[in-house]
Amino acid sequence: MITNFLPPPVQKINSAIALQADVEIYVLRLDLIHPWINGNKWFKLKYNLLTAKEQEFTNLLTFGGAYSNHIYATAAAGNLFGLGTIGVIRGEERLPLNPTLDFAVSQGMQLIYLDRQTYRQRETVELHQQLKQQFGEVFIIPEGGCNLDGVKGCTEIITAVLGMKDFNSDFNTICVACGTATTLVGMALSLGQQQKNQKIIGFPVLKGGEFLSGQIKSLSEKYLVTNGNRSVSFLIPWELVCNYHFGGYGKIKPELIQFCHKFADQHGVPLDYIYTGKMFYGVMDLLQKGFFPPGDRLLLVHTGGLQGNFNHKLSSLTNTGETK
Ligand SMILES: *Cc1c(COP(=O)(O)O)cnc(C)c1O
Repeated sequence: MITNFLPPPVQKINSAIALQADVEIYVLRLDLIHPWINGNKWFKLKYNLLTAKEQEFTNLLTFGGAYSNHIYATAAAGNLFGLGTIGVIRGEERLPLNPTLDFAVSQGMQLIYLDRQTYRQRETVELHQQLKQQFGEVFIIPEGGCNLDGVKGCTEIITAVLGMKDFNSDFNTICVACGTATTLVGMALSLGQQQKNQKIIGFPVLKGGEFLSGQIKSLSEKYLVTNGNRSVSFLIPWELVCNYHFGGYGKIKPELIQFCHKFADQHGVPLDYIYTGKMFYGVMDLLQKGFFPPGDRLLLVHTGGLQGNFNHKLSSLTNTGETK
C-alpha cells in the first residue's frame, strides 16, 4: 500500500543562528514523501484507509475547512486506493472553488457544506446518523484524522519509516507544529519505546494552545489502553510552546510570510504559512533567545501542508483567519 511513497530525507540546516547557539538543526522532510498525500496527513490516514478496506467500506467521509490539508490528502488517498470520498466542508459554498477544493473535486471527492453551527456537531452520533442516511454506509474519519488509527500511523513517522539503525539516538529534541496534536502523540509514544534521552516540543498553531495538554494526555491514554500497553508504554517528555500562533489558527502576518520566503531561499526548505512556518519561526526565534542548550541536536518535523499556500496567492496576504 505504501509502495508509491518515498522515504523522507533528513536535511541539515546550516544556519549562522544555529552555529552561534551551538545547536544542530535537521529537518525531516515529510513534505517530500508523495506529491499530494504528504506530510503527517498520510500517516494519519494510512490505518484509517486500511481499516475502511478491511471492513469493506467503499466510501470515506470526513470533515474539514475550505483550505484543509486533510481534505486535500483524503481526496487524493481515496482516489489512489479505490475508495470514494465525501468531504463535509465547514461554511458556505463559494464559487469558483478555491485551489484546495478544486483539487479535491478533481480527485473525485463529493463536497457538501454545513453551516458553522451544524459543523460543530461533527463528532456527534446524531450528525453521523444523518450523514449515513444521506450517503449510505460511509467510513467516517474525524476532522484532521484525529483518532486512534491516526495516532497509530504517526507512531511510524520517526521510527519505522526512516528505518535507520539508531536514528533516534542522533536527536535530543524533536519539534513539531500542532493542530490536534495527534502527530505529537504518535511520535512521543514511538520514541517512548526507545528509552533514549529525548523530548518533543509542540508548537500549537491555534491561540490558547495550552488546552492541547489535556488532549495529549487523553489521546495517549486511550491509545495505550486500546493497545494493551504492549507495543508502547509511555510518552517521552513533551512540552508545548504556545506563543507562536501569530494571532490564531489560519492567521498570517507579513512577518511570517517574509520569514517563510527567506527560509526557503536560504535553506531550500519551503514552509507553509499555517503550520510549519509558525513552528520554524518559533524555533529560530528561540535559538536566538538561548532556549536550546548548547550541543542540542534538533529534528524539525516538516509536516507538509504546502498546498495551502496556493490559496494565498489569490487572496490578500493579510488573512482573516478563515482558513481552517
Ligand atoms: C494537519 C497538520 C498539522 C497538525 O497535525 P496534528 O496531528 O493535528 O497536530 C501540522 N502540520 C501540517 C502541515 C498539517 O497539515
